[in-house]
Amino acid sequence: MTPQARADSAPGPPAGRRLAQLAGLEVTVLRGVGPAVAADLAELGITSVLDLLAHYPRRYVDGTRMVTVDRVAGGDKVSVLAEVASLRSVPAPRGRGRAPSRVELEVADATGRLRVVFFNQTWRARQLPTGTLVLLFGSVSDYRGRLQMVNPTAEVLRGADEDDGPAEGDASGRVYPVYPLTERAGLTSARVGRLVGEALDRAGPFADPVPAGTLDRLGLLDRTAALAGIHRPVTPEEVEPARRRLAFDELFRLQLALVLRRRRLREDARGIRHATARADGGPTLLDRFVAGLPFVLTGAQRRAVDTLVEDLAGPLPMHRLLQGDVGAGKTVVALAALLVAVDGGRQGAFMAPTEVLADQHAAAVRRLVEGLTVPAPGAPAGERPLRVGLLTGRTPVAERADLLAGAADGSVDLLIGTHALLTDEVAFGSLGVVVIDEQHRFGVEQRAALREKGRGGGGRDPDLLVMTATPIPRTAAMVVFGDLDMTVVDELPPGRRPVTTSWLRTPLEAAEAWARVREEAAAGRRSFVVCPLVEGSDRVEAASATAEAERLAAGELAGLRVGLLHGQLRPADKEAAMEGFRTGALDVLVATTVIEVGVDVPDASVIVVEDADRFGIAQLHQLRGRVGRSGEPAWCYLLSEADTPEAATRLGALERTTDGFVLADVDLDLRGEGTILGARQKGRSDLRLARLLDDRDLVVDARALADELVGADPRLEAHRLLAEELRLFVDEDEAGFLFKS
Ligand code: ADP
Ligand code: MG
Repeated sequence: MTPQARADSAPGPPAGRRLAQLAGLEVTVLRGVGPAVAADLAELGITSVLDLLAHYPRRYVDGTRMVTVDRVAGGDKVSVLAEVASLRSVPAPRGRGRAPSRVELEVADATGRLRVVFFNQTWRARQLPTGTLVLLFGSVSDYRGRLQMVNPTAEVLRGADEDDGPAEGDASGRVYPVYPLTERAGLTSARVGRLVGEALDRAGPFADPVPAGTLDRLGLLDRTAALAGIHRPVTPEEVEPARRRLAFDELFRLQLALVLRRRRLREDARGIRHATARADGGPTLLDRFVAGLPFVLTGAQRRAVDTLVEDLAGPLPMHRLLQGDVGAGKTVVALAALLVAVDGGRQGAFMAPTEVLADQHAAAVRRLVEGLTVPAPGAPAGERPLRVGLLTGRTPVAERADLLAGAADGSVDLLIGTHALLTDEVAFGSLGVVVIDEQHRFGVEQRAALREKGRGGGGRDPDLLVMTATPIPRTAAMVVFGDLDMTVVDELPPGRRPVTTSWLRTPLEAAEAWARVREEAAAGRRSFVVCPLVEGSDRVEAASATAEAERLAAGELAGLRVGLLHGQLRPADKEAAMEGFRTGALDVLVATTVIEVGVDVPDASVIVVEDADRFGIAQLHQLRGRVGRSGEPAWCYLLSEADTPEAATRLGALERTTDGFVLADVDLDLRGEGTILGARQKGRSDLRLARLLDDRDLVVDARALADELVGADPRLEAHRLLAEELRLFVDEDEAGFLFKS
């Protein structure tokens, strides 16, 4: 154990108040919190003192940087911090046309007074009684020789009946935290601030689970200073170091949980030692597969396969994430792992998030394993063709029964499917390897469910490989998939050409795209047209795709053979559309985003995305990955008339680069962590302050510290405070799993 790691393992409770104690204190212990205020706080999700202290300001108003009233000039757009000095409500005059009601204020700071008028907002009189300290933002105009603000935005920083220190009219020189509030919670930001202040004064100082030496090494504040700095900064500069420390705590707890989880999975495991070589030295099924491929594996694929094979041969079940850019050839790598299982007489399962994708995988896998055989004692030549099954929610009853029987008796070697694979009626004779494609759509629970299936059959844990559709940034992967090992396929097959991408902003510019589609069709190549997403309804989306296909077939693409693919089609019609497009019976496939992932038609050279601004970066990158797979030139046209900065950033990034890892960073930057973390981190373990892009260094530090601690003390027995905090933030089941002995 390192000295740092040992520092908080001294016997006896650590000095200061512990989070678990704060979690056990109701907010009603605070002065001035009776049932009414408690109800208001509950509205904000705050019931304990810990909740209150973790209710962080959403921003700060720096009183020292405001424009004082004497410096305000007509035509300026300004923020003014001032107190309401007088208030007059003027109701709308009766029966005289459209004259609006008015609320007229005079606000004052130490330097002067300013007139403020709200039209048709009678409620402002209640919001802003005399004595209220308010932050106003808006334009200043000249009205009959007097400066005034009309309908500014107004944020109450201190209610009229509240006293928080500064002398009357002297609001400058302070930093005001602005707390998130809801409409229904009848609280002001100042009120919340005062309650937090009382909590800090009465509950602190706080016990710190990270030893002082480690904090020094990482350049982090202690917890007491950090909580003060985030809630009551004296200068704006104090906020960021405080945020970093508290963000570190969030990330550290998460990494601890992940590192512990990974360790438990291993301790718990009864893995399969797959045979990866033959006793007679002859070629394995994997060798025969690789030799029979119509292409040579890339170096990156080769390395990835070697890593997987090593995992599979080992006694611990594989738990690995396979990342790679769109088109890097992850499917072949995953299939290699599945074939190792089959070679040992076991089965492989391959789970995809959508039916279209499951179909696609099944078709691709069947092509790739064609001609491969497995030993079959009773069969004529002692072997039979490898059997691939496809099971989705729409598999016909008889076929389904047949597949289920085959899965159970082991005669289906590879079972590909959707969530349908998780249902109870699916039982495997001997499940050896599980591949989950596009994991971000599956939950941890589903992963566990598949693992259980393996146990039920062969009694041992199958090996697990998770694949993502598009790359996710390294640090985000550490957070989301931190309990998995990671392999990156960081090389595209040779001959791939970057897809020429253009953002077309007007119908006139879009003509270029349609011309390209016609040209390519004339040369025997194919184009996708992706229709706009329709929020909420698959049916409406399908209808609009249908209409668009008809419109194009009669207009811009007249004379071409235009097909249609959307989620509402019957399976046979979907199949027919895909097949027609693959074989060239169709020139153009008008589709909804059902084609987003996996669809693989090498002769497709153009993809046109309509209303491209409605799609996310990852989605557009994935869509673009449908073309440029043959070594021939390929084009992606993003049609969008949107002129928002966000659209410009997204579409601009796609025009600029085809590197999925670069795009993943842009995406994270734009969207923040919420969407990446999705539903995976709920409840109290929410990352409130941590920002995965800005705080990359903290993620790495948190991971390293978690590895170090758990490595030396796998049950956190000498780190009881940490263990206690972790239990607070993970749910009971998870805690039971992490700490079981
Ligand atoms: P992704 O990583 O996006 O899932 P796929 O596995 O779908 O990529 O592979 C994309 C295409 O590239 C498929 O048509 C596949 O057969 C082909 N492919 C895979 N590996 C190679 C390779 N080493 N050389 C040439 N083509 C390859
Ligand atoms: Mg894929």
